[in-house]
Amino acid sequence: MHEPRLSLTFTCTVEACHTRSTHQFTRRSYERGIVIVQCPGCKNRHLIADHLGWFKESTKDGQMKTVEDLVRAKGEKVRRGRVGEGGVVEYAPE
Ligand SMILES: [Zn+2]
Repeated sequence: MHEPRLSLTFTCTVEACHTRSTHQFTRRSYERGIVIVQCPGCKNRHLIADHLGWFKESTKDGQMKTVEDLVRAKGEKVRRGRVGEGGVVEYAPE
């Protein structure tokens, strides 16, 4: 199975970090689901796409504040999604 994948180069928004990193995820997650990437520099996670509205009230300037709690709260679905290389968490609805 080869779903089309997107590649995104992301510059960390955390002050004093600004690490650039490249992440890959499926087009389906990006356009219809959830994509979270982890900065390899500061280890913060950043919300790239949230079409399901899970995180919209839990982010500040696109930066996840309590992602571990949020992922735990939605954990069942996130685990059914995909945790890939490069610290990407993605979930696409059926
Ligand atoms: Zn960073």
